[in-house]
Amino acid sequence: MPRVLVTGGAGFLGSHLCESLLEDGYEVIAMDNQISGQAENLEPIFYHDNFTYYEHDVTNFIHSTGDLDWVLHLASLASPVFYQENPIKTLKVGALGTHKTLGLAKEKNAKYLFTSTSEVYGDPEVNPQPESYRGNVDPYGPRSCYDESKRYGEALVRAYRDKHDIDVRIARLFNTYGPRMRLDDGRVIPTFMRQALQGEPLTVHGEGKQTRSFCYVSDLIDGLRALMKAEVQSPVNIGNPDEWSIRELAELIIDVTDSSSEIVYEERPKQDPQVRKPDITKAKRHLNWTPTITLREGLQELPEYYKRRMQD
Ligand code: UDP
Repeated sequence: MPRVLVTGGAGFLGSHLCESLLEDGYEVIAMDNQISGQAENLEPIFYHDNFTYYEHDVTNFIHSTGDLDWVLHLASLASPVFYQENPIKTLKVGALGTHKTLGLAKEKNAKYLFTSTSEVYGDPEVNPQPESYRGNVDPYGPRSCYDESKRYGEALVRAYRDKHDIDVRIARLFNTYGPRMRLDDGRVIPTFMRQALQGEPLTVHGEGKQTRSFCYVSDLIDGLRALMKAEVQSPVNIGNPDEWSIRELAELIIDVTDSSSEIVYEERPKQDPQVRKPDITKAKRHLNWTPTITLREGLQELPEYYKRRMQD
């Protein structure tokens, strides 16, 4: 039975990935410091025979007994609201956390997967963004703690591959949504969902002309699993290329939730990227993967889930 470590295992993506790996017969060890992760995300698998959970900050040394086949480093503060509140922790998990987990992979002779981000492209000047695009990032900007920690993380993964011959994967994840994304996450879909379900105005930043491309969580997990199986060590974009303006998204969420909420326009955050859309040619070719769930279909999965969470 393959044995894997998932950092950020109690998070939105981490918990879904743990579940998918357990279903496929892996032994899974999850680790999370619960700054943004929530242990309740692990309820469906907590008592699974092949699952173990540790509350641990991955920037500290990881004591691990037994063999590992994979180290999957998902731990991160991915929401702009969270990472701007915790800029040092964000830099540390991308830098020290990546260093610790790479050191562990080297020690165990394990394969290594790093979840990077579309934010390595910054406020992109080309749309869609292929992996070859080098990005437009301000190293001293308001989002730099996140962008630069992931860019540094990619460089460290590359260095461990070159110097220690570790078999690595780098996923550049684009905007993702689905159940287990926190209601107070701050990102646009849970925020608009909560506002629409509570009959409050939806707070569109700026004129809402900026775009994002949203991937449903099950598609994204399938993409990560396909990347684990593929023989590609350079970064691969994983996301849904269907691009929406934030205003269109607000209108769609009002429609899907059958809400009477209005839209209000607020100040746009500084250096908020104007466009974002993955070029997934590489993922299609090397992973034989493409997302299948439309934004409307994915959003329809959310109202029941968020209504339950609002009652908790
Ligand atoms: N946004 C918005 N209203 C909100 C939250 C976010 O208009 O209440 C906008 C935000 O300014 C950005 C887009 O939605 O243009 C996506 O933001 P999010 O925080 O979800 O993630 P990002 O893609 O910026 O990392």
